Amino acid sequence: MSGNAIEIEGLRKTYAASGNQPPKEALKGVDLEIPAGSIFGLLGPNGAGKSTLINILAGLVLKTSGKVRIWGFDQDVNPRQSRAAIGVMPQELNMDPFFTPRAALEVQAGLYGVPRRNRRTEEILQMIGLEDKAEAYARSLSGGMRRRLLLGKALVHSPQILVLDEPTAGVDIELRQMLWTNVRRLNEEEGMTIILTTHYLEEAEEMCDEIAIINHGEVIARDTTEALIGRMDAKTLVIHPEGEVPEDFAPPPGVEMERRRGGALAFTYRRSEIATGAVLEEVRHAGLRMRDVATEEPDLEDVFVELTSKKGAAA
Ligand code: ADP
Ligand code: MG
Repeated sequence: MSGNAIEIEGLRKTYAASGNQPPKEALKGVDLEIPAGSIFGLLGPNGAGKSTLINILAGLVLKTSGKVRIWGFDQDVNPRQSRAAIGVMPQELNMDPFFTPRAALEVQAGLYGVPRRNRRTEEILQMIGLEDKAEAYARSLSGGMRRRLLLGKALVHSPQILVLDEPTAGVDIELRQMLWTNVRRLNEEEGMTIILTTHYLEEAEEMCDEIAIINHGEVIARDTTEALIGRMDAKTLVIHPEGEVPEDFAPPPGVEMERRRGGALAFTYRRSEIATGAVLEEVRHAGLRMRDVATEEPDLEDVFVELTSKKGAAA
């Protein structure tokens, strides 16, 4: 192991034409390394290629070309070992309606060749909160319960890497909390590498140590969450002035001023060039009295919008 849970080189996927649909180039040469032990976010708009990438890792979609190494095992050379290292919770809710949760977990463990004495069925049922429903018909399970069962199925063979494809799209707050609590615990206590895809920026920002942003089948940025946000140079200082602002009041050079509703003034400037203290000083100097002062830092949304709106932006 080189310290990377996943190594991807020049990965391409073109879906064949079907009917009147032309061929679709879903991945256009992706290079990506995902460090072992991290919570890694794959972020991108709908249709970016996230599920295609995940499904190639899972062995559910055949790549067109490129190299994929999972836990050090080349997918083409050691398909069995590379498959054993990864568990995937898919985006789609496809489930055999005839299996109870307990049976579904047992069957999945069987598929992965987990010997009976090593099975963790009861532990997993408890973890996903389905002990009470262990013998229920799958068709009587709610959408949330089915999702939890999908998480359980991804864990039966105790993989080093857990992949979650849009785990919280359209789920309620309670299930979201339950998923994140489990994911954090698996990462912290068992050292499991977690890869998740999401189009929720806040979620990626809150959960992930590192992030790759994918757009139109290409990775357009990849960095720690902190560094990605730090890349945005804009900073905004918001002042609530005391009393009237003089008509001729103008911001200092290099600072843009916007009058907000409620009388606040927002000053935006490049933090690499201008210190916040200097802006404040100028404002005071102009005779403005301040009732309240706050700063606004960029967030992942700013980064994302900037990157995905510039076509062909460099990583
Ligand atoms: P994401 O998960 O980021 O929303 P996908 O990987 O599902 O993106 O899709 C990437 C692109 O590939 C989209 O344009 C999608 O329509 C296309 N695509 C996905 N699956 C198939 C398929 N089985 N056949 C043809 N095109 C597909
Ligand atoms: Mg998807």
